[in-house]
Amino acid sequence: MNHLWRALQYLRPYWRMATASAVLTVLASLSGLLAPWPLKIIVDNVLGTQPLPGVLARFAALSLADKTTLLTAVVVGSLVITLLHHGIAVLQSYLTTSFEQRMILDFRSDLFSHAQRLSMSFHDQSRAGGLIYAINFQADAAAGVIMAAQPLAQSAISLVGMFWITYKINPVLALLSLSVVPFLYFSVIYYSSRIQKRLMTVKGMEGESLSIIHEAISMLRVIVAFGRERHEYSRFREQAERAVHARIRLTIRQTVFALAVNMITTIGSALVLGYGGWQALQGKLTVGDLLIVIAYIAAVYAPLEAISTTIGSLQDQVVSLRIAFGLLDTQPEIRDEPGALTIGRAKGAVRFEDIAFTYQGRVDTLRNISFEAKPGQVIAICGPTGAGKTTLISLLPRFYDAKSGRILLDGTDTRKIALKSLRDQISIVLQDPLLFSASIAENIRYGRLDATMEEVIAAAKNANAHDFITKLPQGYDTQLGERGVQISGGERQRISVARAFLKDAPILILDEPTSSIDSKTESVILDALDRLMAGRTTFMIAHRLATIRHADQILVLLFGELIERGTHDELLAKGGLYRQLFDMQTKRTRTKHTPAILGTEEPPETGDSGDNQPERAP
Ligand code: ADP
Repeated sequence: MNHLWRALQYLRPYWRMATASAVLTVLASLSGLLAPWPLKIIVDNVLGTQPLPGVLARFAALSLADKTTLLTAVVVGSLVITLLHHGIAVLQSYLTTSFEQRMILDFRSDLFSHAQRLSMSFHDQSRAGGLIYAINFQADAAAGVIMAAQPLAQSAISLVGMFWITYKINPVLALLSLSVVPFLYFSVIYYSSRIQKRLMTVKGMEGESLSIIHEAISMLRVIVAFGRERHEYSRFREQAERAVHARIRLTIRQTVFALAVNMITTIGSALVLGYGGWQALQGKLTVGDLLIVIAYIAAVYAPLEAISTTIGSLQDQVVSLRIAFGLLDTQPEIRDEPGALTIGRAKGAVRFEDIAFTYQGRVDTLRNISFEAKPGQVIAICGPTGAGKTTLISLLPRFYDAKSGRILLDGTDTRKIALKSLRDQISIVLQDPLLFSASIAENIRYGRLDATMEEVIAAAKNANAHDFITKLPQGYDTQLGERGVQISGGERQRISVARAFLKDAPILILDEPTSSIDSKTESVILDALDRLMAGRTTFMIAHRLATIRHADQILVLLFGELIERGTHDELLAKGGLYRQLFDMQTKRTRTKHTPAILGTEEPPETGDSGDNQPERAP
């Protein structure tokens, strides 16, 4: 019930349209009543000799010429009535569709914006397909539930009307006809309670099918590379077949329910017929009366059946609503505190104070982490894979919140700053630059949506991207595929660096920006990054220790703990893990030998995956 009430809120902005549509429904049925009249007039008054009814009576005693005029008038009149009837129907369907679709859109928009606000930890645990299913397919339910209200109300009104007339004719038979109501009521209740769980399961399966499609399309490169098209196809097919079977079984149940409702009303009719016949036998009821009562009882049962089956089929919508509201009710773990501050451009002083963090279902991802970055400093973070480097850095823009401890930006706890304002202070360049399927210019402009074309070009020049962009046949207007597949990894990375230039935030996070790029392209990007880092507090995660040699402070993480810190020279002198990692890498560069010790994954130095061989979409 609660869900229905909430769904009704979406009707509120459109109540005028909804009312107009209800009025038109009444008009349409009234104009429907007019439809048989022209024929009656032709038969009785034009062809026959009956006097015209009511207002038309003064045309009585018509000559043949008059009758011809009347005939024309009636024919034109009937045309007008038909036009009126259908005109109203068109208008009504226009109104209904527009407010129904707008309601669906509003509900869907709420779901979409909510899904975007949900925290990373939510998205870590849910599959994209399920979310798409909820947003795109379950949103219809809000309108569905409300649209069912009109036929329900109509049925209820005609039920009352029919019952009243029947009661006037024969109260006993009328009351007897209602004896089926409790049975109908219980069968609806029984059905609803049973069917909801099944509906939930079937919808879950349908969402799962969508997840498989979504995953397969976004993993297409891997699938094609391993030649696993058939495997993915059968995975999809098997899952979808299970969903189809479940859906069929569900539909059978729904039909059986409709059958049960019909059976109950048929038994009711039989009861009325039996009792009425018996009364007629006893001479207490004329046969004519019995016929009339039976006709009316049938008329009572029609809306009763309609109500029961509508309530039954509404279960589908109710379950959809539950899924959709379930998503809406998931609170984002990370939100603005009441009275969160909006800050201007930060200076960029960052302090981590005794930070601990754990992913759901994991233990101690980070422990006792404290360090400080002065404005403009470069803090490098290194350590073996899985040590917690990315996690540490994702606490700063509050992708996750620390379990204990606090992070200060210019002396203010980041949890007291409005999320939008906090994230405005930070640019992030990731290892795998994600680009939108839009033009290169639009992708760069994502850093600041109101940037002019000159600013976009300036940013591209700073990122060493301008030259390769202008060499493309369409230059800045080159459309990129969903993941920017027509250009190489190095080029993609330079576009994402240009984006960061345009955003011009005081804090910069570089999460291994060059680790998947060959060394020749790396120097071009490092050059651009040097320029980008100037005047910004930078946190840089790097595997290749040579790239962080000049950092003001290097933090070495191991199993979620900060085990060493200092400058490059200090750490080398100390002879700890950093020294070990460094020696391993320099030796490797000399010998071109790659032992994957401690998880320092480094792509082959002679790799040619960069600019020379643009990757192509399969
Ligand atoms: P690094 O960046 O040093 O390679 P990460 O910060 O990515 O390490 O990971 C640290 C640890 O946290 C690893 O054990 C990893 O498996 C785990 N981890 C990373 N991301 C998640 C996540 N979204 N959910 C649960 N555990 C995670």
